Amino acid sequence: MTTTIKPDVVIIGSGVGGASVAHRLVGTGAKVLILERGEALPREAQNADPDAVFLQNRYRTQDEWQDSTGRAYRPGQYYFVGGHTKFYGTAMFRFRSDDFAQQSTDEGTSPAWPVTYSDLEAHYDAAERLFGVRGQAGQDPTEPPRAAPFAHAPIPHEPVIADMAERLGRAGLRPFHMPSAVDYGPGGRCQRCGTCDAFACRFDAKGDADTRILRPLLRHPDVTLWTGAQVMRLISDPDGLRIVAAEIQRGGEVIRIEAPLFVLSAGAINSALILLRSASETHPNGLANRSGVVGRYLMNHHLTGLMGVRPLRPNNTRFPKTLSINDFYRGIPGDGSARGNIQMLGNIGGPMIRSAYPVAPKWAANWLGRHSVDFLTMSEDLPNRDSRVRLMENGGVEVDYRPGGTAGHDRFVRHVRTLLRQIGFPLVLRHSFGIEAPSHQCGTVRMGTDPGLSALTPLCRAHDHPNLYVVDAGFFPSSAALNPALTVAAQALRVGDHIAGLWKRGIAV
Ligand SMILES: Cc1cc2nc3c(=O)[nH]c(=O)nc-3n(C[C@H](O)[C@H](O)[C@H](O)COP(=O)(O)OP(=O)(O)OC[C@H]3O[C@@H](n4cnc5c(N)ncnc54)[C@H](O)[C@@H]3O)c2cc1C
Repeated sequence: MTTTIKPDVVIIGSGVGGASVAHRLVGTGAKVLILERGEALPREAQNADPDAVFLQNRYRTQDEWQDSTGRAYRPGQYYFVGGHTKFYGTAMFRFRSDDFAQQSTDEGTSPAWPVTYSDLEAHYDAAERLFGVRGQAGQDPTEPPRAAPFAHAPIPHEPVIADMAERLGRAGLRPFHMPSAVDYGPGGRCQRCGTCDAFACRFDAKGDADTRILRPLLRHPDVTLWTGAQVMRLISDPDGLRIVAAEIQRGGEVIRIEAPLFVLSAGAINSALILLRSASETHPNGLANRSGVVGRYLMNHHLTGLMGVRPLRPNNTRFPKTLSINDFYRGIPGDGSARGNIQMLGNIGGPMIRSAYPVAPKWAANWLGRHSVDFLTMSEDLPNRDSRVRLMENGGVEVDYRPGGTAGHDRFVRHVRTLLRQIGFPLVLRHSFGIEAPSHQCGTVRMGTDPGLSALTPLCRAHDHPNLYVVDAGFFPSSAALNPALTVAAQALRVGDHIAGLWKRGIAV
């Protein structure tokens, strides 16, 4: 049986993108329906149990995707209210001013964005306030201009991290307090429980899209959230121009939801899949896809973890993610293509090590977890048209990921490894995070000014459909070398302001 309902705006996905757009629509009079395929994340002991999270993969989707060789795997995708921010590491960086300009390395080029840093600056500020980001302006040598200081003081370093900052400073670097969205400090909810990055927070202290945006929004009568509502496809009118409905599956029922305006924010990979799955006679290659870019240019950052091991010095830090280094953001000495950001990782414990290396004995993994200080090196993933997600004939999903810029990343990692040895780690182990956990996925529904080369306008509206916006990390034309969530939020607030303005002026979208 098919039921039909009719809100004013349908937002698909309750992650950073969807929640931030919804935030701007409240108060305009528009009735907003948010469709989320997942449920609210249960608050339970397993939230903080590394065995449950990393060995039993309790919160990971049961869906299977396959890689280009046909090997099936369960991707590191998490479908809950609030999206991936329920599990994120809370690092909330603004992209640098020149990240929005064309960038070249000896391995290729990433294009300029159709928006500049100054277009986003005020929205970055709003996003930081919304998510409760803590930080210290004026320390990061690559920091873009900001009109106001951070609203909240940075999270102080614990002793081991303070010692790192001192050692790195003595080595000539300028470590700084990492901007982080945690409700820490007097009266704050953070308990420094030691489980944060890649865990869900039992205390609602993490600045995620659920706790910071959706819960307050849902008190407003104009906002409704449907959980367990998986959008299968969007349907256009007979001319193929306007989107008229979303078809969803909920509780065994197929429901058709009609609305004047649709905002697709299902995450970079899933938004592309929904558009591809919506292919019809008028749009045989999927919606919003005149350019053929939907599903292409998949990027994910090059992420390598470095574990600095000091056999005689256990590391008892509870919240290590307070320090970052951008001295090599535009290159190491003599090599401008070997570049990226360095930041602390969350605590790497034995179960995490065993999930990546199942043959590691439990005692050895636990010992390593206790004696390491853990860094993350991050480099830009250069966009490649052949790096893509696509639907297979049987309806399955193939992720054919082609990383761009790996040689430069590798040289950057080697440089950082040498540096870590110099500052006192006799042993530095490395581990690469791959596409099976596409934590920084982006680029699959890119924006641009040329409808022949991009799917979305600079305001994230589909070039092909006046009443469809795609607002999640899919819109990124390039990935920069910093965590993506704050940039998703800033652009989503900007787009939300634009839609709210149209709505208030009664302009048909
Ligand atoms: C372990 C981990 C650590 C991370 N750490 C950081 C960090 O420290 N800093 C940072 O900036 N970023 C971090 N990230 C990345 C960050 O979480 C994402 O970039 C960001 O959340 C993306 O937001 P989004 O709105 O694009 O999509 P998502 O967060 O993926 O939201 C999409 C939403 O749509 C829903 N959905 C999907 N398909 C459908 C459908 N068919 N119908 C209805 N709903 C659907 C999903 O359930 C989800 O709620 C991390 C990610 C992970 C996994």
